[in-house]
Amino acid sequence: MPHHYRCPVCATRSRPYWTRAGAEEHGRAHRRRYHGGDHPFGERIVHAPYRRPRRAEVIAALIALVFLAVSLGRLLV
Ligand SMILES: [Zn+2]
Repeated sequence: MPHHYRCPVCATRSRPYWTRAGAEEHGRAHRRRYHGGDHPFGERIVHAPYRRPRRAEVIAALIALVFLAVSLGRLLV
């Protein structure tokens, strides 16, 4: 479940992190760099809802797997 650090003072949201600890570390770095280590009012860690992959993403992954399988098959023969 992806996590984001959000700072309402800067109106910014971090890139997604798979762990809450990753988003919290991003928040610590953000506070040090932009707020002198202080906690901006309203900052928080938010969960991004799980998004089902789109059909095109599934098709692209399957094509990549087929190419990988064919490549490995040629290496083994
Ligand atoms: Zn900020």
